[in-house]
Amino acid sequence: MQIAIIGAGATGLAAAHELLKAGHTLTVFEATERPGGLAGGFKAPGWDWSLEKFYHHWFASDADLLRLAEEIGVRQRVIYNRPQTVVYYQERFYPLDGALSTVLGGRTWADRLPLSGSLARGLLALRYPGFNVIDVLRYGLAGAYLVLTSDWRRLEQFTAHEWLSRWMGRRVYGLLFRPLLQGKFAEYAEQVNMAWMWARIKARTPMLGTYIGGFQAFFDDLAAHLQRRGATIVYGARVESIVSEHITGHLRLTVHPAAPDRQPAGLANPQSFDRVLVTTSPRLMTKLAPQLPADYLGALNHLKSLGAVVLIVALNRQLSRAGYYWHNLPKSAGFPFLALCEHTNFVSAQHFGGQHLVYCGDYLPVDHPYFAMNEADLRAAFLPALRRINPDFDESWVQHTWVFKEPYAQPVPFVNHSRAIPPVRTPWPGLFFASMSQVYPWDRGTNYAVKLGREAAAQMVAGL
Ligand SMILES: Cc1cc2nc3c(=O)[nH]c(=O)nc-3n(C[C@H](O)[C@H](O)[C@H](O)COP(=O)(O)OP(=O)(O)OC[C@H]3O[C@@H](n4cnc5c(N)ncnc54)[C@H](O)[C@@H]3O)c2cc1C
Repeated sequence: MQIAIIGAGATGLAAAHELLKAGHTLTVFEATERPGGLAGGFKAPGWDWSLEKFYHHWFASDADLLRLAEEIGVRQRVIYNRPQTVVYYQERFYPLDGALSTVLGGRTWADRLPLSGSLARGLLALRYPGFNVIDVLRYGLAGAYLVLTSDWRRLEQFTAHEWLSRWMGRRVYGLLFRPLLQGKFAEYAEQVNMAWMWARIKARTPMLGTYIGGFQAFFDDLAAHLQRRGATIVYGARVESIVSEHITGHLRLTVHPAAPDRQPAGLANPQSFDRVLVTTSPRLMTKLAPQLPADYLGALNHLKSLGAVVLIVALNRQLSRAGYYWHNLPKSAGFPFLALCEHTNFVSAQHFGGQHLVYCGDYLPVDHPYFAMNEADLRAAFLPALRRINPDFDESWVQHTWVFKEPYAQPVPFVNHSRAIPPVRTPWPGLFFASMSQVYPWDRGTNYAVKLGREAAAQMVAGL
C-alpha cells in the first residue's frame, strides 16, 4: 500500500516505524528541514549537543518511547539522572520531590525501601514552610489515593480546582497546584479536569532522561533508521491540501515543496495515496481538508489549546546557586513566566561550550502580547526575574538569547474531555488524524506521541 504521513514529529515517525515493519511503502512529508517537530533542537557554534527549542525531558515511566529506542537500537543512548525540581515560597525555593537518600543525608540504602519516593515526598512536604501538619497529612493521603487509583474516568467529571481544593485543602491547592494550572492553562486554569492532574502525578518520575547529543540527535537517528528501512522522507515539503477521490478511493495530496528539485523522483504533484496520516494541529487539519464533514471539522475546531513562548538565555556562569533544574514560578508572586529551567543543571554545560543555558517559558493564548514581542522586548520583560533566582545576576552574564514561539503547544482538557476527542479514523476512508489533542488522560509528551503513532498505524492497516 502507498501511505503518506504528514509531519516528521514523534507521532509521524513512530507511525512510520510501525508501517515499515508491516511492509508498506511510505512517504513522510515534513514542512521544515529537520525531523523532531516540537521536540526538535538546534546547535550553536561550539556546542557538541543540540538544545531543544522548548525544554524537554523523558520520565523513567516513558515505556513507549523506550521501546521504540530499543527497537531502533539506540536504547543505550537514552540516559537518566535526577535533577532537582523546586517550588516557590516567599522568595525561596524548596524541593518537594527527590531521592529518599538525599533527604536522609546520603543514606543510599533508603532508596531501596518500598515506597521510598512517597516517603521522600512526605518528608520534604514536612520541611516546606508553607504547610502545617494537617496540610502535609491531606497532601499525603490524597496524593496516595491518586497514585493508587486507576479510575481516571471518575476523576474527569471534576475540575482539578474543585477536587484538589476539597481533598488536599485550599492552602496546598493554592501553593502547589493553582500556580501550575494557572501557568499551564492561563484563563482555562479552573476548568481543567482532574484526570489530567491524576495522570501527571501518576506518570512523572524524579528520574529524568535525555538522549546523548540531545533530542534532535534522537530524531535524526530515528529518521535515518527509517530511511535505511526504505522510507522516503521529504523535508521542506509543506502539504497544502488533501482531497478525497471517491471514484478511485485514493487521497490526493497537494504538496508545496520548498524547492522543485526537492520533489522525490517519480512523484508527481498532486500525489495519490491509499492511506494518509496527518499529524499536524487540529486547526491545520481543518485547513488541509476543509471538505471533511462539518461535524468532524466542528469537533476539531472545538478543541482548545494554548501556545508557548520561550526565551533561552546562555550565561557565562551557573544561575541557581543550589544547582536546581526546574523552578515552578507562581505568576501571583509577580513572575513574568511559568517556569525557569536551568538545562545545564540537568545536562552538563561542557556539552554547550561551557555556556549555562536557562529557559524562561510560558504557555499563553496566541493573542497574548508575548507572541507579538520581539527578542529585545522579551529580554526586557523576562531577564529582571533572574535576579529572584540569584540576587547577584547581572545582565553582563548574558552571552546570547534565542526566542521560540509555538501556537499549538498545550491542549486543554475540560471536564469529561474523553467524549470530545475526535477519533483517529476520520469520516473519509483512508484518512487518519493523530495529534497531541488526542493524547489523554496523559499530558501530551513524546512518549504518548509515540504511543498514538503506533495506534494510528495499527488502525491504518487494520483488516488488510
Ligand atoms: C513547551 C513544550 C514543552 C514540552 N516538554 C516536553 C517534555 O519535557 N517531554 C516530552 O516528552 N514532551 C514534551 N513536550 C511535548 C512534545 O514536544 C510533543 O508531545 C510531541 O513533540 C508531539 O509530537 P507530534 O509529532 O504529535 O507533533 P509535532 O512535534 O508538532 O510534529 C508535527 C510535524 O508536522 C509538521 N507539519 C505541520 N504542518 C505540516 C504540513 N502542512 N506539511 C508537512 N508537515 C507539516 C511540523 O513541522 C512538525 O514537524 C513539550 C512541548 C512543548 C510545546
